[in-house]
Amino acid sequence: MRKSLLAVAIVAIAACSESPKNDSSTSAQAPEVEKTQTASDVTAQATQDNPLLAASELQYQAPDFSRIKDEHFEPAFEQGMAEHLQEIEAIAKSSEPVTFNNTIVVMEEAGALLTRVSRVFFNLVGTDSNEARRALQSKMAPRLAAHSDSIYLNADLFARVESLYNQRVALEMDPESERLLEVYYDNFVKAGAKLSAEQKDTLRALNEEHSTLTTQFSQNLLKLSKAIAVVVDDKAELEGLSDAQIKSAAAAAKAAGHEDKYLISITNTTRQPVLTSLKNRELRQRIWEASANRGTSGELDNQPLVQRLVQIRAQKAGLLGYDNWAEYQLVNTMAEKPESVMNMLNSMVPAVVSNTKAEQAAIQAMIEKEGGDFDVQPWDWAYYAEKVRQAKYDLNENEVREYFEFNRVLHDGLFYTMNRLYGIRFEARPDLPVYHPDVQAFELFDHDGKSLAIFYADYFAREGKRGGAWMSAFVGQSGLLEQKPVVVNVMNIPKGPEGEPTLVSFDHVTTMFHELGHGIHGMFSDVRYPTLAGTSVSRDFVEFPSTFEEDWAATPEVLENYAFHYKTGERIPDELLAKVLKAKNFNMGFDTLEYMSAALLDMEWHSLPADSELQDVAKFEAKALEKHGVDLPAVPPRYKSTYFAHSIGGGYSAGYYAYMWSEILAADAFAYVKERGGLTRKNGDWYRKNILEVGNSRPPMESYKKFRGQEPTTDALLIRRGLSPQGGE
Ligand SMILES: [Zn+2]
Repeated sequence: MRKSLLAVAIVAIAACSESPKNDSSTSAQAPEVEKTQTASDVTAQATQDNPLLAASELQYQAPDFSRIKDEHFEPAFEQGMAEHLQEIEAIAKSSEPVTFNNTIVVMEEAGALLTRVSRVFFNLVGTDSNEARRALQSKMAPRLAAHSDSIYLNADLFARVESLYNQRVALEMDPESERLLEVYYDNFVKAGAKLSAEQKDTLRALNEEHSTLTTQFSQNLLKLSKAIAVVVDDKAELEGLSDAQIKSAAAAAKAAGHEDKYLISITNTTRQPVLTSLKNRELRQRIWEASANRGTSGELDNQPLVQRLVQIRAQKAGLLGYDNWAEYQLVNTMAEKPESVMNMLNSMVPAVVSNTKAEQAAIQAMIEKEGGDFDVQPWDWAYYAEKVRQAKYDLNENEVREYFEFNRVLHDGLFYTMNRLYGIRFEARPDLPVYHPDVQAFELFDHDGKSLAIFYADYFAREGKRGGAWMSAFVGQSGLLEQKPVVVNVMNIPKGPEGEPTLVSFDHVTTMFHELGHGIHGMFSDVRYPTLAGTSVSRDFVEFPSTFEEDWAATPEVLENYAFHYKTGERIPDELLAKVLKAKNFNMGFDTLEYMSAALLDMEWHSLPADSELQDVAKFEAKALEKHGVDLPAVPPRYKSTYFAHSIGGGYSAGYYAYMWSEILAADAFAYVKERGGLTRKNGDWYRKNILEVGNSRPPMESYKKFRGQEPTTDALLIRRGLSPQGGE
């Protein structure tokens, strides 16, 4: 898909992880805890008042949003952490001989309250934020991190885990239990459990500095987004923008105190959306430079943070016995080793670069045709690429949208596809409480009529919702805990005007399929242990099931069932459809190359050894890009280091490659399924059984080979992206 990589990149930071995200809000006041009653009175009273303190009695423990209030979260967090620590202490200090059941299984069962409150809270912070929630988020994030440390650095607890791990062969466990034990052991070791007391102190100090600097890095980025916005004096300079864009630029300027001027805000990637339509070349250059040079000077200079953060990670990796941070981060991923990532990316470079050069030639020709006497620069690319696209495909996005009415897409596109592949059925459950009137609740039924899960659909943009699209769960699946999944899909589709239907762009249609792919990964989960359920797989595997479902959106059999004009009811004309499908891979060389440059840069930063000195950021970047042959001046990386939040901010450090890795699997798998008859129950069931149901209960490559009969190749990815292996158009 034309924008899928970008969309996925933004999305997935939250998509499939449950990690709390910090922000810069100020702290809220803690509610007073009642102290005059006896402890049991307090508990009884509090449980009655605070629905989070007990498991919900709704179906599958779906949260009772009609009763949950903001003031319930903090006391539930406090009590949840305290209970969890008590449970963990009891395991660690137990005098019983260590067994898998009295150690690992009990840890799986522990922390029920903390899990419950965290899932409800962090989901609502993302979908329906307000000041109180943001403030509590800032307050809880470091507390929860320290809570996790107090478990992983507990020496008595680790001694029990380690002794089990050392006897794991003799214990003759079932494969899922053995996998769980290995995951626990690796998590403890990666967190520093094997270090000496003195080394643990060093580690804690590095962790603390790392946490302070990453917070500073992300706060600088927030401040920069305001500081570098471009002020334009004269409306004439804005030629090419729509009236609505000009109006909102004027409003933004006014709000920022620039009366009678226009403010162009800068988005988080190097490339800027307005550059597609802005005619004034000097202004384009100003905007691009504001973006690409952000965080390189003044008070908000992020360079010292980049330097020290990558050094801290290298030192931490060294302390834990790894050559570099990338090696450390890739433990228990599908790639396993930095070399496999480098090989994958490098193997793609020649085809991607030659396709990009062909695109560049077409753009250069367009510049000259329009009388331009200059070589294409990064700030020219999108503007002339759009002209090439118009000339080539003559595609009107608004005309296309009229064939994608929201409800038809959801029921006759998404749910229809799921029914054809897996025999499943979604039934509306308007009786279940939701957290916002726009949210719809469904119950998912299996092919044999058995109830499987609850699914919330939260597709429309609104204030207080984070940008992007993601999947998350309120309740995870577990045989041990007798839990069925309660899953949510979140998107930001602009809702149609009051009383009118919502028309969806084809990009958004594709993203709806993508997110439901994550959704069924969660809802089909059929494992015993919650730690191994559903989307709890490595980062370079998790985007595979979602990307796999994307391609059904553009499959003729599916389109025939959902792409009808919202007014006339006519099916989308073949000619228009052909244009849509062709145009979706336009500019894909550029899109792929800017992504790959960033992924390679991320890997290079995190390949530095523990004893390396602070690096000059600009020089390091230039050298890294040149080394891999991706240093095309007109195609800079999607993110440069000073604003590369995924990588330098930490969440996706040595992990930005994962989007492409997952897409390779998805493309390979989809091509395989297509060969075997495409949209059939047989294909769906085979895929469900081998990939979706097993979660992380076995190594991902093992699952993939069970499904596919062999390891994946990159061939299908190039075809999916419309890139020719030899280059050219
Ligand atoms: Zn995703």
